[in-house]
Amino acid sequence: MPARRQPCAGATLMPMTPLEEIRHSCSHVLATAVLRLFPEAKLDIGPPTETGFYYDIDLDHRFTAEDLVRLEAEMRQVADENQPFLRKEVSREEAVEIIRSRGQERYKLGRLADISEGEKISFYQNGEFIDLCAGTHVRYSSKLKAFKLLSIAGAYHRGDERNKQLQRIYGTAFANKEELAQHLHQLEQARLRDHRKLGRDLKLFHIDEEVGQGLILWTPNGAVIRQELQTFISEELRKQGYAQVFTPHIGKLELYKTSGHFPYYKDAQFAPVLESDALARVVAENCPCGEVFARLEAVSGQLREQINARTGRETITADRVRPDADLLDGFMLKPMNCPHHIKIFASQPHSYRDLPVRLAEFGTVYRWEQSGELNGMTRVRGFTQDDAHLFCTEEQVAAEVLGCLSLVRTVLSTLGMADYRVRVGLRDPDSNKYTGEAANWDKAEEACRAAARTLGVPFTEEPGEAAFYGPKIDFVVRDVIGREWQLGTVQVDYNLPIRFDLSYIGPDNQPHRPVMIHRAPFGSMERFCGVLIEHFAGDFPLWLAPEQVRILPISEKTIEPARALLARLRAEGLRATLDEHSDKLGAKIRRAEIDKVPYALVLGQKEAEAGGVSVRSRARGDEGVLATDACVARLRAEVASRALPDRRKATPA
Ligand SMILES: [Zn+2]
Ligand SMILES: [Zn+2]
Repeated sequence: MPARRQPCAGATLMPMTPLEEIRHSCSHVLATAVLRLFPEAKLDIGPPTETGFYYDIDLDHRFTAEDLVRLEAEMRQVADENQPFLRKEVSREEAVEIIRSRGQERYKLGRLADISEGEKISFYQNGEFIDLCAGTHVRYSSKLKAFKLLSIAGAYHRGDERNKQLQRIYGTAFANKEELAQHLHQLEQARLRDHRKLGRDLKLFHIDEEVGQGLILWTPNGAVIRQELQTFISEELRKQGYAQVFTPHIGKLELYKTSGHFPYYKDAQFAPVLESDALARVVAENCPCGEVFARLEAVSGQLREQINARTGRETITADRVRPDADLLDGFMLKPMNCPHHIKIFASQPHSYRDLPVRLAEFGTVYRWEQSGELNGMTRVRGFTQDDAHLFCTEEQVAAEVLGCLSLVRTVLSTLGMADYRVRVGLRDPDSNKYTGEAANWDKAEEACRAAARTLGVPFTEEPGEAAFYGPKIDFVVRDVIGREWQLGTVQVDYNLPIRFDLSYIGPDNQPHRPVMIHRAPFGSMERFCGVLIEHFAGDFPLWLAPEQVRILPISEKTIEPARALLARLRAEGLRATLDEHSDKLGAKIRRAEIDKVPYALVLGQKEAEAGGVSVRSRARGDEGVLATDACVARLRAEVASRALPDRRKATPA
């Protein structure tokens, strides 16, 4: 929850919205309550956030959940006291005096020093509490009618991990109790759907410290979901004329120097992997570490000449060049798949009749995310993109972008994610940082706009949001509880075909430059599955469910026919299991519900003799006895049509 402003740091401010005033005033009331219960607490700052407010507090006592309850009760007391918020402008000397008199020198003097000379210094007082603050606030504390303290987290003073870690108390507040209740309900829904929790409960994936943070281990259940999604997407790609390729997880540094991904994006990448020989050499030479990096990042004079000639500008500067004998080669964990796909395209001559060439790969890439940014499956360090690169002529760009979008529409609607929007990133008309000719840009931008329009969903144009090498389209889906998730992107690229000197032979028998389209519309399989787990709350449609059917024999006597049924269902391609525990049927049914298995087939002696099963659907409840053949046919049809769960009845607990 990033703070949009830091009012208590005293900067000149834009006026707050009424809701921000409520939330920020709650920070003051929280601090009032903290000092009443913990007079030794040292306060730092307490700004409003996108969804509430916080206050950073330095206190030896570790706040507990019970403390939050007590603090919230005290805040209610402060609100009931109907304290006015009074502003007081003071000189710097007076400010120091006020801070000293309250024993709050530890952080507040530093915050006071942030206020530049000539700026007004103000305090706000409510009841006995006074705080350095530029404002603004509600007029009386009684205006604060709907607030709630939510959580405690560690936060470094000024966000710098060299500083002391403070305790941050988060809360939220709204104008009225109804809006607060609605927000809390949404938070609760989000908690129940949290893919990290469901991922554990349903055994979908695992992250192991010893393997590494941000590296997803797909366990058997999660692997089924990923495989089914990949199969589905691949089927659609085949219909659109894509070819599947496979490429390795690493590539030589030289490749990424040519593409420009190294060293320009090195902060977002794993460090290069040195060859053993090269490593032995630099060790033998006693090469200092900094020098090793400099030699890895350097380029040969030849590469510099090539790239500068191809791009027609000073793309690689002279200071990066070193004599060939100085250069260190190595490998990179691939941060993106494009250079590998480019090399596949370039491995053969192409005529205009071959285009577009569409190369698709579920390609795994590695990016360096700060450990604080990692989050379950949605922010990771290794992920598999639903990637593809299209090599086409200028004239084909519009149709290809349209094809990418129709794929997105098909996939999202199959998954019941109809609520999404697109952002079209265009160039900044006032900048000249862009590669490629203006006329081509105009055409590509219009193609993106036109394609976005065909989706029939809201889209916004965002000037200045294009990459320097071409316009792009981003997808943002809204899930069932109203949260937005940024998925993937479609990008037009004029730059890499130049850097790699790609060409095709046109109808005029002359070489021409192809345009490249990068597209990974669902982002990555990790992120997309994380979003899907939350979207379905773990209740996957039958075709995605890791375990589709569980057979529940009523007693020992039906174990044998149950085993025969299991073999039959598996032979029919269904993911079925058999619950052979000896406990009561009720316990078996409950277990199947906890595991969110879409169908439980209950097998008693009577059903077994008649060649039938009693069907319990997770979505629709008890459906009575069906002949086994009819039951199998129905399940297979539901899988084949990739139907969404039909919830005519409320979902069982
Ligand atoms: Zn304030
Ligand atoms: Zn790419």
